[in-house]
Amino acid sequence: TENKADAAGTVPQPRAAVLAMPEYHPPLAGRDALRLDFNENTLAPSPRVLEKLQKLTSEGLTIYPERQPVERIAAAHFGLSVDQVLLTNGVDEAIHLMACAFLDEGDEALICTPTFFMYDVSISMMTTGLRKVQTDDTLAFPFERFLAAITPRTKLIIVASPNNPTGATISREQLLAIAAAAPQAVLMVDEAYFHFHGETTMGDIGSVPNLIVARTFSKAYGLANLRVGMVAGDARLIGFLRKVSSPYNVNGVALAVLPEALADEDYLNWYILQVHQGRERMYTALEELGVRTWPSASNFILMDIGPKHKELVAAMRRHGVLLRDRSTDPGCDGYVRITIGTEEHVTRGIAALRASL
Ligand code: PMP
Repeated sequence: TENKADAAGTVPQPRAAVLAMPEYHPPLAGRDALRLDFNENTLAPSPRVLEKLQKLTSEGLTIYPERQPVERIAAAHFGLSVDQVLLTNGVDEAIHLMACAFLDEGDEALICTPTFFMYDVSISMMTTGLRKVQTDDTLAFPFERFLAAITPRTKLIIVASPNNPTGATISREQLLAIAAAAPQAVLMVDEAYFHFHGETTMGDIGSVPNLIVARTFSKAYGLANLRVGMVAGDARLIGFLRKVSSPYNVNGVALAVLPEALADEDYLNWYILQVHQGRERMYTALEELGVRTWPSASNFILMDIGPKHKELVAAMRRHGVLLRDRSTDPGCDGYVRITIGTEEHVTRGIAALRASL
């Protein structure tokens, strides 16, 4: 028999939070160009990862992936114990798990803006109490106003250092001050872009009980397609996240290559050096072109293009280079982001900018 709701042309309605949620559709279609739009590694992962991929057989495909042995390897890599680490389906999933585990309706959560959009999505699914602290024109982290926005009802704080799309950082001292000012809240420090900056709060796990540090393999390691990230923190906090997570959240291919990616520090250091040198060259070129920028500690630079931002993105696409228009981010009208990759890719990016601006 036919479902009555279907027959009437209606479907069950989702929770009010879902209806209220703005749509987030990253422009992923037709990216067959030089992709300087998503802050990915622009070249490839470590040769050791590629070698391991070649050796994989179909043998393991029928069985569920086993996360824990690789968590043990990751924990050892960071000098942590296995119960202080959880592998996730990218940092995206980690953010979801944080919101699910720590937020009830009515709780407050705190982020700055502009920042990574998924914080808003995951938090808004759990509570209407999301508070956003707007950066000023310097795009620096608004530390004093952020501290002032903490209330006894604040249960979750998420900050990215370096931040996306600004490239701004938050010092370790400031992060520890935030954690200390909100002992009733969990502070998630999103270190997705850690490698391009080098400062971390990973060493404070153990002494700061409300700290969670997130890392991704999507950026410097070049494994965005495998969807793998990691959270580290107090064993009790990680235990709550583990309860909420699917036991098979990270696929077997990702688990197989992760130890190789972690072990190949030479490759990682080479890629980081490419980005550091490329970032300097890009800053010099943008200065010559008269484009206003902000200091970035990451593998991208935010550019103030002004009213012609759409024209620039279109012209760059015609020159075979993709950029990310961030104009709709709060306080970012006319701003466009460019990823910094390898030497060759930066050279192509600069040439396309010269021809397009
Ligand atoms: N955090 C930040 C700050 C990001 O910019 C991104 C990716 N754009 C992510 C997390 C997501 O990382 P993952 O690929 O591990 O889900």
